[in-house]
Amino acid sequence: MITFYPGPSKVSNKVLNYLRDAFLDGVLSINHRSPEFEQIYEDCVKNLREKLLIPEDYIVLFTSSATECWEIIAQSLIDRESYHIYNGAFGEKWFEYTQKIKPEAKGARFDMQIELEVDKLQVPPTAELLAITHNETSNGTAVGYSTLAKLRKAYPDQLIAVDATSSMAGVRLDFELADIWYASVQKCFGLPAGLAVMICSPRTLERAAQINENSHYNSFLFMVEKMRLNQTSYTPNVLNIYLLMRVMEIAPSIMETEAKTILRYTDWVNFFKSLESVHLLIENEWVRSRTVLTIAAPADIVKETKASAKRAGIVLGSGYGDLKSTTFRIANFPAIKTKEINLLMEFFSEHLR
Ligand SMILES: *Cc1c(COP(=O)(O)O)cnc(C)c1O
Repeated sequence: MITFYPGPSKVSNKVLNYLRDAFLDGVLSINHRSPEFEQIYEDCVKNLREKLLIPEDYIVLFTSSATECWEIIAQSLIDRESYHIYNGAFGEKWFEYTQKIKPEAKGARFDMQIELEVDKLQVPPTAELLAITHNETSNGTAVGYSTLAKLRKAYPDQLIAVDATSSMAGVRLDFELADIWYASVQKCFGLPAGLAVMICSPRTLERAAQINENSHYNSFLFMVEKMRLNQTSYTPNVLNIYLLMRVMEIAPSIMETEAKTILRYTDWVNFFKSLESVHLLIENEWVRSRTVLTIAAPADIVKETKASAKRAGIVLGSGYGDLKSTTFRIANFPAIKTKEINLLMEFFSEHLR
């Protein structure tokens, strides 16, 4: 089976050997307060910083999922009110999860076919944090850096939190443009699910100290306190932190990875232009994701394409939420091999007009 599902997605081929190493070196049994674990933690963060170009003054925390990051932000980094800007299902879910913890949270949907118009936003002055999804995995859109820069400029006092779950490690992120960035590792990192990284600015720490929330095992301040020791507040996914450390150790710089991502994205766009029966859901290339392609077609074509792909040993990503029956998705993540992309293109050429 070859999978193009945008999460959980194809695990990097290198992981097989790293799993064996982890087992043989006893990583699976080490204590999470031991010097051995602290070394893995430290090396993992060092490799992440080096390869993803994380600013020196930003901290790196480990959580178990992007969903946990939604809750950590709601609990510890919002006193009363946040403002959520979204155009798809993941951004909307983040808003809904936050509302359960902070009922005053507000939000607005924007049109997925157009660039977010920052000057038209009506953010209440009482909002303390802006929440935005960098790469909306459900519809294949992305927010550009010029838009994030405008947001930063228009709202200098608010913290800005960015869900980069399906773009981090696939394209370069301009960390300075926001305060909180997070991603789980089962998307662009090419790792099994069950771990996420959260990258935060010094301002985030200041704000957390003001709010001073300390009621949870995953309260932000408690996590930071443990991070200073290269530890976590609970027994973490040691195996995945080890795998992340290994994968990032040999990963090229994100600049190189991004160049590959964009080249493959361009190939996909040109390929779909040559087909009549399907088209890219997002027409405006300025807002199109480079890491997740959403292909739209009549429901019968979507159904038939997914089914015949499966018979050919290829898993396509289903449409998500409202777009379930009228789209399918293709992950453009680094762990996917060029050979696999060529196979999928051949399959489409045979099955689609
Ligand atoms: C996959 C995804 C999530 C959820 O990730 P979990 O690790 O399952 O919590 C959140 N946001 C975006 C944009 C995603 O693509």
